[in-house]
Amino acid sequence: MRIAVLSGKGGAGKTSIAVSLALVKGEGVLVDADVEEPNAALLLSPQMTSRREVFKKVPVVDQNNCDYCKRCAEACQFNAIMVLPGSVVVFDKLCHSCGTCAYVCPRHAIKEDEKPIGVIEIGVRGSIRFIGGRLNVGEAMGTPLIRELRRSIPKDSPFVIVDAPPGVTCPVVEAVKGCDYILVVAESTVFGFHDFTLVVEFLREIGVPFGVIENKRGLVEESLISDFCESEGLELIASLPYDSEIASCYSRGVPMVEAAWEMEDLFREILERVEEKMGC
Ligand code: SF4
Ligand code: SF4
Repeated sequence: MRIAVLSGKGGAGKTSIAVSLALVKGEGVLVDADVEEPNAALLLSPQMTSRREVFKKVPVVDQNNCDYCKRCAEACQFNAIMVLPGSVVVFDKLCHSCGTCAYVCPRHAIKEDEKPIGVIEIGVRGSIRFIGGRLNVGEAMGTPLIRELRRSIPKDSPFVIVDAPPGVTCPVVEAVKGCDYILVVAESTVFGFHDFTLVVEFLREIGVPFGVIENKRGLVEESLISDFCESEGLELIASLPYDSEIASCYSRGVPMVEAAWEMEDLFREILERVEEKMGC
């Protein structure tokens, strides 16, 4: 079973919830796919066993063979290559490594080079295996690194929790690929609610079963999330109360499940409900 934990915005508590679920399960794989702000290792504290660099392919133009016909630039749907009189410029950060420019170049003037974009770190804590990605500072695109992270998950893992990036961007789509169930973490604030509705729309479009965890219930008076779940017929898996002690534990690197004794039962129930939904 593969579960992704995501939220409409950062700070909703998804990483603490993903780590807590992994700890309650006590085995399996925890994947930190929030590669722009990876925090799961801070909360899980695994013993790191290996680290490797990840590269992406970027086009390199041999200007001696180029006649500046512009076919590469016309074919690139990401505007990542520009032809000027007498030179061709590649914008590495916009490039999706699709290879189209090299394919269409009539003079075979484009080769591919490898550029480092981040690292994958692997570690263990007890029977939990940790796999986390970290995007290099200034690197704009997390998708290739997340794709590589997914390939690093052992195929025979019966239980995988993915801490997905926040929002509804391409990296999120990549992170939730292959997941059987998604837990959406949302807080009942006006901003949190707006971002949550975008995630719901996105998940309905991609058609993966999902349930909602309302976090920090009681922080504000409104019950926007639970009311919305009720009116839209969404599965409200759990409501986690706001607790300033738990919030301060998070800032000290303590996951929710270890911040208060009663949280363990709550997370066990969440896991059981999801397993029940998946027929496990
Ligand atoms: S398609 Fe090839 S020849 Fe034409 S501008 Fe691009 S690199 Fe140069
Ligand atoms: S590899 Fe694809 S995205 Fe990158 S410059 Fe070429 S056509 Fe554009």
